Amino acid sequence: MAVTYVSTRGRAPELGFADVLLTGLAADGGLYCPATVPSLPELEPGLPYAEVARRVMWPYVEGSVEPDEWAALVADAYRAFRHREVCPVISLGDNHHLLDLTQGPTLAFKDVALQLVGRLLDRELARRHQRVVVVGATSGDTGSAAIEALAGRPNVDAVVLHPAGRVSEVQRRQMTTVDAPNIHNLAVDGTFDDCQDLVKAAFTAPELAGRHLSAVNSINWARIMAQIVYYVTAARTVAPDGGPVSFTVPTGNFGNVLAGWYAKRMGLAVDQLVVASNRNDVLARFFATGALEARTVEPSLSPSMDIQVSSNFERLLWEASGRDSEAVTELLTRFRAEGRATVPEPWVAAIRAEMTGFRLDDEGTLAEMARLHTELDRVIDPHTAVGLAAARACRRDRAVPMITLATADAAKFPDAVEKAVGARPALPPFLAELLSRPERMEPMANDLGALVEVIEGLPA
Ligand SMILES: *Cc1c(COP(=O)(O)O)cnc(C)c1O
Repeated sequence: MAVTYVSTRGRAPELGFADVLLTGLAADGGLYCPATVPSLPELEPGLPYAEVARRVMWPYVEGSVEPDEWAALVADAYRAFRHREVCPVISLGDNHHLLDLTQGPTLAFKDVALQLVGRLLDRELARRHQRVVVVGATSGDTGSAAIEALAGRPNVDAVVLHPAGRVSEVQRRQMTTVDAPNIHNLAVDGTFDDCQDLVKAAFTAPELAGRHLSAVNSINWARIMAQIVYYVTAARTVAPDGGPVSFTVPTGNFGNVLAGWYAKRMGLAVDQLVVASNRNDVLARFFATGALEARTVEPSLSPSMDIQVSSNFERLLWEASGRDSEAVTELLTRFRAEGRATVPEPWVAAIRAEMTGFRLDDEGTLAEMARLHTELDRVIDPHTAVGLAAARACRRDRAVPMITLATADAAKFPDAVEKAVGARPALPPFLAELLSRPERMEPMANDLGALVEVIEGLPA
């Protein structure tokens, strides 16, 4: 039976996978979720990553993709990874493991989902004889993962805005040295928030009403789906007998840890799910108090987790409420308007039964990076450090393997690494090449008219 998708807000049409892939946010402002959660398939030992991926995700896409084409897409998406196992597991001793999600083209975990989603999107557009312009703003990481996923895809143009002079040189070059005619980097004279506002405004600009605009942001169900797979492969690696394992996830928009929750729902034996936050700790405070309260975003050493409204949390709230769309809509409307909302006690209890929250500030992050360097001679990135410290602090039972998700390679955050261990990490050889490649980007004023003009100039 093919899975269908319903909105958390309950007032948008039920859709199949292909439509959900192209839709992003539901028409009622909610997020699409699978109406039924399938069980994990039979998985015999020794299967390669792409084969596990093909089988685990199949019920979610069935009816939208032919089986042969699906197998080819998945195999192709994971061929680009540098490690044969795609997402290898590394033992740290003490029954604690690192799940390395950094083997994709941009050295961060978003590649795992986006390499597949870019291919799925292009294939669906070809089938419909459509083109889209994917428009996005980035403060660094997401932009390059999206660009790598969309470069050269025949039915997609990507317009990526970054704040000029406010992303690191490596991050900028990861975006601007991709040599594909469908990639358009705009260096905006403004901040990241200005870039985001411009993107939002483009989606409702009357001049662009006739164009297909799209986003591949982390609320897209296809991205969550692709992330379920590595929870399954990691658990099979450290507990081949099927015994329980725990996960700790460096968290921002809540997409990654939500995928772990879905893996558990599908039947994976998961004991603890630890949600690790940096100083932007709206989730950690929720676990402590049962209230959602957004504060201003403060920059930290782990910038990809600098988020105060974790969009994907809505999906978990909806499940915790017993799928009470009306109550969820009311709660989130109040939260958006007032910046604060108390979550009903039974929902809080349901969420606390499945997850634990933890917060680590920058000082703690540097200490954890230094500790790993001294004790294990391992250089880790600041996001992963937040996860590792949270895992150690929140572990209940040392007999249960703990798996912490490594979400970025240390080479992407040389300043934080230098602060923590006194030396800058070497760029991996394929990244070092970036420094000599020509860059392609256009400067742009912080002005909607300028953005509209760029988009209007692209083939419809
Ligand atoms: C995006 C990102 C995160 C946060 O993931 P979410 O799915 O948004 O919770 C953590 N670490 C890194 C390096 C990231 O790029």
